[in-house]
Amino acid sequence: MKKAERSKLFSATVMAGMLALSVTTGLRDVHADMSGYAAQTASTVGGFGGNTTGGSQATAAHTYTVTDRASLLKALGGENNATPKIIYVSGKIDMNVNDQGQTLTAADYAQGTGYNFERYLAAYAPSTWGKKKLSGVQEADRLQAQKNQAAQVVVKVPANTTIIGEPGAQFIGGNLVIQKGNVIVRNLYFETPYDDFPQWDPTDESTGNWNSQYDAISVQGASNVWLDHNTFDDGTHPDAQNGTYYGREYQHHDGDTDFTNGANNITVSDNIYRNHDKTMLIGNSDTKTTDAGKLHVTVTHNLFENTVQRTPRVRYGEVQVVNNLYQNDGTSSYKFKYAWGLGKNAQIAAQNNVLNIANASAPDIISKLKGTQLSDSGTQFNGASVSASTLSHTAPITWQPTAPAILTPTNQVQATVMSQAGADVLK
Ligand code: CA
Ligand code: CA
Repeated sequence: MKKAERSKLFSATVMAGMLALSVTTGLRDVHADMSGYAAQTASTVGGFGGNTTGGSQATAAHTYTVTDRASLLKALGGENNATPKIIYVSGKIDMNVNDQGQTLTAADYAQGTGYNFERYLAAYAPSTWGKKKLSGVQEADRLQAQKNQAAQVVVKVPANTTIIGEPGAQFIGGNLVIQKGNVIVRNLYFETPYDDFPQWDPTDESTGNWNSQYDAISVQGASNVWLDHNTFDDGTHPDAQNGTYYGREYQHHDGDTDFTNGANNITVSDNIYRNHDKTMLIGNSDTKTTDAGKLHVTVTHNLFENTVQRTPRVRYGEVQVVNNLYQNDGTSSYKFKYAWGLGKNAQIAAQNNVLNIANASAPDIISKLKGTQLSDSGTQFNGASVSASTLSHTAPITWQPTAPAILTPTNQVQATVMSQAGADVLK
């Protein structure tokens, strides 16, 4: 419902009686509370994405409340709809639910494709297929089934858009793809999308690996993006349920928030990343030399709780990692591997981050993945001040970071992030 329509409804409801009045007043109050929040721009936080304004200039006619997949797509208005727009997400949107309210399963997506997992497993067993790139009818059928799911769960977000969750809002199983500039996403709970059709890649590492398609948010080539106060969680599909085939985890997830294809000028602030493996990829290929000079990302005041790796993992980018809190008490099925992945030509500036990681030691903070340049200051690991760069023998960065608008002393990071990160914190 548009705001103008809501106010008409409100007037009508005043005459309709006290019971309806109180219900409608509740709705109005939610928006009164959220509207100042929706009008905010990234300048309050700053960082590389600090010029992002999203849909803050939207008129009432382009302010929407969406409650399901169909109303979300309608409000977005197609990937080329650059009119400033604010979209409130109300309640739970499950992207695997069709317009008739039916939940679509793997069997629904595979229908008519010929895809059959048992035949797929038989076709590509490493003992017989070996390490060649996949080809043949089973892989073609899998790809078609995956495309059927993608058509349902992938949503392209146009330029000049703010998407904002109302209290308790949830976005389940969908992949927001941001390819146009100037987009804000705030206050929304994401259950990480679940690919029903993982692909076997015999060439991924020495073992081969199962890989999946969807991130919760993929920024591909767009500039000026602000992701703020969201929560990302594998939720009802934890990786521990994946099982293994060919001796490798049957991984149904890809990233939480991935920034690729020359994405640039992004601020990622006050989010919770929880229960996830490949959390934040910045730059997806060593051979993508066109990423050089782009991939400027500020990652600040986020909570990474029970995340395995890539928080973030960087290629080519100049990336600020400031005032983040990393927690893994060792009881989770998501086992910590590393925090900062230093990939080809990455330059990471880390400042005042706190890591509390059971069963790990400070040299585990950094994983050197063909990269060399990382500077850190104010790092705290399991209660002790450490220099991650010294422990991992990195070279200093050669650019001069500008601090984000808010810089928290290390000794206040844990309390600040614990109280402020995630969806449904801002009132
Ligand atoms: Ca992979
Ligand atoms: Ca990805």
